[in-house]
Amino acid sequence: MNEIKIIRQNRKTLSLKVDKEGNIIVKAPRYVFKKTIDNFIEKNTSWIEKQREKKQNSILDPSKISEYKKEAKQIIIPRVQEFAQKYGFTYNSIKITSAMTRWGSCTSKKNLNFTYRLALAPERVRDYVIVHELCHLRQMNHSKKFWSEVASIMPDYKDQEKWLKENWATIS
Ligand SMILES: [Zn+2]
Repeated sequence: MNEIKIIRQNRKTLSLKVDKEGNIIVKAPRYVFKKTIDNFIEKNTSWIEKQREKKQNSILDPSKISEYKKEAKQIIIPRVQEFAQKYGFTYNSIKITSAMTRWGSCTSKKNLNFTYRLALAPERVRDYVIVHELCHLRQMNHSKKFWSEVASIMPDYKDQEKWLKENWATIS
């Protein structure tokens, strides 16, 4: 999630910045009330949102998609192989797609697809999506059996699900 970082320094005015990750950085005079800072942030909410949008768009520059895909391949494929080997999954192929809303899928022909956007997610979330799709190689559904398979590999998978629900919108 995005954070608010307050830096106290010798200055007279408040200043506001949004960093690459969408965190808010406020530079504040040493003796200004926290409440004043909160009000300042609140007053600038729409500006902050605009900045965040801009940053997201620059991360996902469409002319760079093939570059992102190449990078994603280097991150995702070895990880899939690692999990598959460790837990004895066999698949046919892995493809990196540019799907917007689907982070992964598994076909009945045992082909695994992952969106390059997954490379932008935290490692643990990425691992979860990989584990999820690998488990579909054994269970092509979301049955109890499927979820217990997922849980046996990643007991805290629900935290990752939660992260995806809360943050995926900012990535896609
Ligand atoms: Zn699924």
